[in-house]
Amino acid sequence: MPTAERMASRRKRSPKIANQWLRQILRLLYRRRSLSRIGIVETTGLNAASASHALRYLLDCGVLLRSADRCRLTGRHREAFTVNAEAGHFVALDLEGDRLRFGLTNLLGDIRCRWEECLGLGQPFAAEKVVEGIGRVTRDLDPTQLGRVLAVGVSYPGLLDAEGRLSAVNLGWTKVPLLAALKQAFPWPVFLERDKETCIHAENWLGAAHDCRNALFLIAEGGIGMGILEGGEHLLGARGFSGEIGHCKFIPGAEDLCNCGQKGCLEAIASSPNIVRQYAERTGAASAELRFVDVLERARGGDAIALAVFERAGRAIGSALSTAISLFDPEIVILGGDLILAEDIVLPIIWDQIRLLTRPRSLEVVQVVVSRLGLDIRLKGAASLAFRNVLEAPELMQRLCAPARDAAPALDRRPRPRAMKER
Ligand SMILES: [Zn+2]
Repeated sequence: MPTAERMASRRKRSPKIANQWLRQILRLLYRRRSLSRIGIVETTGLNAASASHALRYLLDCGVLLRSADRCRLTGRHREAFTVNAEAGHFVALDLEGDRLRFGLTNLLGDIRCRWEECLGLGQPFAAEKVVEGIGRVTRDLDPTQLGRVLAVGVSYPGLLDAEGRLSAVNLGWTKVPLLAALKQAFPWPVFLERDKETCIHAENWLGAAHDCRNALFLIAEGGIGMGILEGGEHLLGARGFSGEIGHCKFIPGAEDLCNCGQKGCLEAIASSPNIVRQYAERTGAASAELRFVDVLERARGGDAIALAVFERAGRAIGSALSTAISLFDPEIVILGGDLILAEDIVLPIIWDQIRLLTRPRSLEVVQVVVSRLGLDIRLKGAASLAFRNVLEAPELMQRLCAPARDAAPALDRRPRPRAMKER
């Protein structure tokens, strides 16, 4: 029986499948990847009959697949269920700063197609660039595949106002009308999240914070910020401004001028451009000709000034993390951004400073590690953002569960992108 008819017949026979059951099962399998029927019943708290109806429905839709896992008690293989990663696509965007990254992902964040656009620091950022990049990663999809694109997830730096306009002081972006441009150009729902949050969600989904409920992600590159996972949810604050640790002061009397206009902010001491600036100021080198990796290589080569700059940055970051660990009591602290490149130089300094300033009891369980998700972390986080939001929206759940051929039409108002030069 064709899928659509089978679905209609199943809906007829099982009219009481609640969206909530589907959502609970999908949310669980999004996190756990594969689980047995018993595991699903035990973890969701659904009764066995409801879980069976919902599993059958999701299998018929093609959203779940049967797999097998090994029972921990008996060692035998048993029937398990997993999300059919290719049952839908997301468009994922990482507006990192000097680079815009675009990805077409499957439901589980695997990147199927990618595109990058360089954007010089301080260059004006036009929302049209984002529209072109999305066109680039979706233009080869056929109508059926286009019909399975469910949403756009965007990881952004800086601040978004109520009208969806993006500003990032350290990047020179002012009120870029991002949301309006995306809504005008594409039919898909758009979800936006600060890069701090997309990073912590990516780590919680696929990285070092998997299965953690309390974790911190410190991102240090052009700017510095912190994603905070508390009790399994990210902490936003009253206006969504939490985690701005880059603009807190940890070195008394520091005179380094920050982009925010204040002096002595963590960002003004330990962000990549400021590491380059301090090295250039102390050596008389031209900062325009130096990159973060150049200073790092000099530190590795024993250059005393480069080492002193990293020492100062590492101490400032360690002090910041000591405070954060005492405040949030996390299971894990993950370091990301350019800091990863300097792991060998700065991680021992950061740890030393944390131990120096933190009450031993606060350090009993916490680990400090560097992220292993690489450059794609925010694209994966953006896919996670899209997935989490699809589960919350009944109309998107309906689209996810619609057989592919039902979902195909209605997307032809997507513009064809202008030709772009391959990089
Ligand atoms: Zn500042």
